[in-house]
Order: sequence, then structure tokens, then C-alpha cells
Amino acid sequence: MNRVTAEITRNNMFNENDRLLLALSGGKDSYVLLDIIARIHDPKLIGVITIIEGIPGYNRVSNISWIIEKTRKLGIELHVVPFKSYVGYTLEELVLRARELGINVSPCTFCGILRRRIMNHYALMYGYDCVLTAHNLDDEVQTILADLMRGDLARFIQLHPLSKPLSKYFVKRVKPLRRIYEYEITAYAYATGFEFQEVDCPYITHAPTLRAKLREYLHEIEGRSPGTLLKMLNWYDKTVRTLLENKALTYPTKELPQCPLCGSPMAFGRRYCMLCELLLKLKLPVKYLGTRKPLSSPKHQ
Ligand code: SF4
Ligand code: ZN
Repeated sequence: MNRVTAEITRNNMFNENDRLLLALSGGKDSYVLLDIIARIHDPKLIGVITIIEGIPGYNRVSNISWIIEKTRKLGIELHVVPFKSYVGYTLEELVLRARELGINVSPCTFCGILRRRIMNHYALMYGYDCVLTAHNLDDEVQTILADLMRGDLARFIQLHPLSKPLSKYFVKRVKPLRRIYEYEITAYAYATGFEFQEVDCPYITHAPTLRAKLREYLHEIEGRSPGTLLKMLNWYDKTVRTLLENKALTYPTKELPQCPLCGSPMAFGRRYCMLCELLLKLKLPVKYLGTRKPLSSPKHQ
């Protein structure tokens, strides 16, 4: 427990007066993130967002009852945002629609795009300085390897805590648990009274993503040679820090363009952002245009 708390305090990537938005799913990692941040930061400067994807049997409102209770006790602002209320459809409806049209997109792709959008949107709308997520060391190393295997250098670098957001409309993302093993988080959660009732998302086995395969592989390696994941993260941090500090890379510094439909930042060369493009592919109305309002939030101008 001490190592978990010490790592987070030492490595925290936000200032004392920053307003933090914690993105919590309701699982053990979320529990540990909220527990520790509420101990080291002023609860009045903390908000929580929890997103309901709309997957039958998973992350129903009943699964997040502890978040509702704990935030109420601590006096922390809570935003519960269903996909349905944000974009007009549940994840299940989007997946069924894609199947009907014969479009081969993994549910995790829809889910990831929408969750990132909603987190950023709420952070801008309510003037938070950072979004904190509960990704742990295992998650972080999976992402590093996946980016390497795809040859995606921009994302590889962008993952590092010292990288700057590519748009003034992206709120800084912080992962305080990135140096903590999943088993350490489980132990902390258990020791502090978390009631384990985790149900795996039914889509996790639907179309095993590269990440799911890497997860299995890395577990095996770590089991045989304990400490491997932490060594990999240390190597990654050192490498990227050196590249950034020595300016050894020609790194994009130009502000990203905005999607002509919703106003969100999007990659260079795209016609629309990924979310608008997915909805257009599914022949669904792009009706979450409220994004224009938070995008003009003065705090992030
Ligand atoms: Fe979303 Fe995929 Fe995770 Fe399920 S497994 S919650 S669909 S990202
Ligand atoms: Zn868009």
C-alpha cells in the first residue's frame, strides 16, 4: 500500500490548485484512483465523470453505486453520462447498426472514441485543468507495445506524460497509476475494503484486439520474469524524455484542425473527426453538436 501511495504522490503530474476530473468506470482501478487522489488533493477541486456505455449487463448504474455514495460523502461533483444521452445511441445500438450495414468495426473502437470525446468535452465544459484516468502499469505497457507494433511514432511519443496536447481544445490527460502493477492495485483495493463485483465487458472476447493479445502475452512474460513491465516502462520514459528534451525529433507543433461538423480537433488530412466519420458511415445523424459551446471555454483558449 505504501509503495502505491508513494509512487502516486511522487509522480503526480498536476499542481496543487488544479481542478481535476477523474474518469471512473467503477472497477478496482477507479476505486484506488479516487481513494488516493481524495487523500492528496482538495476534494473541492476534484470532479468525477463516469460514463455508461449502454452494454447489456455491464456498467449499469447499480455497478457504480459506490461512486455515487463516495463522491456524495466527500462532497465531490459527479457527472454520470450515458452514451445515449451524449450521442443519441447506446454502444449496443451502434454495434447492431454496424452489423446491419455489414460494417466491420470493433465495439472497442466505438467505445474508445466516444469515451475519450465525452471526457474531454466535460473537462472543457466545466473548466477542469486535467483529466485523470485509472490506467495501470499493465495497461500502459500494452499501449506502448501496440503503438510500436503499429509503427505509430506520433502516438508512441504522445503517450508520454511530458508530451504537450496537440490542440488547445484537448485537456491534459494524467495517469497517476501508470507505474503501479495491476496486482498491486488489487491488493490496495482489497486492503481498503473495496467490494469486488467486477463483470467483464461481454465485448472483450468479441473480437480480441491487439491489446487483448498483448495483455495475455505480457502476463506470461511477467510471470516468468517479474519486474519486466516496470523495466519496459522505465526504458520507454527514459527514451521519450531524451527525445523530447534534446529535440531530436521533428515533432508536430502546429495546432490540429477542427472538424467541420462538430468543431472537435482532428488529425491533419482528415475530412471529419473519427466520431463524425463513424456516425456518417452508420448513416446516423451527427447530433452531438453541443461540442461547439464547450470548445469556446475561455479557460482553454
Ligand atoms: Fe468498451 Fe471494449 Fe472495454 Fe467493452 S472491452 S468497455 S467495448 S473498450
Ligand atoms: Zn466531428
